[in-house]
Amino acid sequence: MAATGTNEIYFQKATLRDTAVTVRPKPNPTPTPLLRLEVRDLSADGARSFLSLLNCDSVLQEAVDSVLSLLYTSKSKIPPTRSVTLVLRSMEGVAYTTGKEIDGDHKEIHFSTDYIAGCSEERRAEEMLGVLRHEMVHCWQWAANGTCPSGLIEGIADWVRLKSNMVPPHWKQEGGGDWDAGYQHTAYFLEYLETRFGQGTVVAINERLCDRDYVEKGFWIHCCGCEVQELWDDYGRSLTDAQKGSDTNVTSPMESTV
Ligand SMILES: [Zn+2]
Repeated sequence: MAATGTNEIYFQKATLRDTAVTVRPKPNPTPTPLLRLEVRDLSADGARSFLSLLNCDSVLQEAVDSVLSLLYTSKSKIPPTRSVTLVLRSMEGVAYTTGKEIDGDHKEIHFSTDYIAGCSEERRAEEMLGVLRHEMVHCWQWAANGTCPSGLIEGIADWVRLKSNMVPPHWKQEGGGDWDAGYQHTAYFLEYLETRFGQGTVVAINERLCDRDYVEKGFWIHCCGCEVQELWDDYGRSLTDAQKGSDTNVTSPMESTV
């Protein structure tokens, strides 16, 4: 969830602690935020799982590095996030990210130990990493001065998770509905745009959300040359074509992105 303090409920998966993840070169200079871990109850099963299954000394830094490398280049303007505190605590939902009231450049990721404890043991480590990767995006992405559609915010967060090879088993590409329904629904659309218009398209979309309000008409024409509904319709047709291709044992480009 974006930096609103509102809980989000969704289900995710991630890679295991020793799984190699492709990371692009870091932006230069690389931000060096203070990274902190706060465990409200060490006896909680979810807290114990986090501490025992993940490399706690590096998991936050790896998430920062991955997010920055996927969303920014050496020429990018990066949000001035000064610290990220991961708070493991009992609460409803999965996780949310917020900024401290006194200074929004200090971010807090609240992650439910109840949710962690409810994950199956075989997927628990992957799920924790995936949720953390998604939430870490919210600490660093631009949001058009608060005018960006929440579906695009959440789509970019899940696109980073997608590009980090942390796709949960239930995710699937789907057309129809609204392009900005968010999460993986929008994430796969963004990956379609990245494939169609080239690597760096999502970087450009995120950077277009910096220091200016979101105006849908000009926004997508600037980034991709046409209106977002047209792009969304093209995406839906590409999925239909891919399905027809798979029905005849023809591999489509989009099938290789999952
Ligand atoms: Zn989110």
